[in-house]
Amino acid sequence: MLIPKIKFFGNLLIIECLQYHYNTLFTFPPKKVVVFFTTPHPCLHSRGIHYIIYSMPKLLMHTCCAPCSVYCIDSLRQEGTEPTLFWYNPNIHPYIEYKTRRDCLKEYAKKVGAELIINEDYGLDEFCRNVVSDIPNRCVNYCYPKRIGETAKYAKEHGYDAFTTTLLVSPYQKHEELIKVCERVADFYDVDFLYRDFRVGFREGQAKARELRLYMQKYCGCIFSEEERYAKQIARDQAGTISPSMS
Ligand code: SF4
Repeated sequence: MLIPKIKFFGNLLIIECLQYHYNTLFTFPPKKVVVFFTTPHPCLHSRGIHYIIYSMPKLLMHTCCAPCSVYCIDSLRQEGTEPTLFWYNPNIHPYIEYKTRRDCLKEYAKKVGAELIINEDYGLDEFCRNVVSDIPNRCVNYCYPKRIGETAKYAKEHGYDAFTTTLLVSPYQKHEELIKVCERVADFYDVDFLYRDFRVGFREGQAKARELRLYMQKYCGCIFSEEERYAKQIARDQAGTISPSMS
């Protein structure tokens, strides 16, 4: 076990290069952490220190919808981190779908006492203009950078230590590509990206969301994903509309 270097300032304790705690709690680069005496800790017990609290990072979490936020909020809170939720999803269409997901998140945030920042931007025209030349690669080339970039920018401008995203919970997203986008915008805006593989809790989160009767969407968000969602049905319908005279 690594013993951290510690210094005392009155009843404050400062731990430098907190490798042991760092691995346990979060994956930011080592930084000074101010600790008060309130929770038991085995590593410091032998030094007569029985209680500590970690000063946790101020975290902004891009949030795509209420159901995906369930496990992310729960697991971060278990770590001791309270995320601020950040709604920025100009990729969700049509407007009624956008509004339904946004309003469901508003209600859920209120219910669980989470702070929610709404960055309003219903962007059908702009989204389509930016993806139409390469629809198959729209997620990685435009949708992720647009949403995560705005999140990182807001985090930097408003004094957050780091950002993350609920998109990391979905096994249907392009997880590895998403990580690369997050790392890129973190570098660009000079703010930390907190990575968690939330996918381990996807089923659990979805089950809880159903129990809570949250609105469960049927497709990722853009009109192209809606078409993909119903691709088989569309193909069946089209097959059924071929007139006998044409066959
Ligand atoms: S499928 Fe989802 S992630 Fe990909 S572009 Fe559409 S809304 Fe964005």
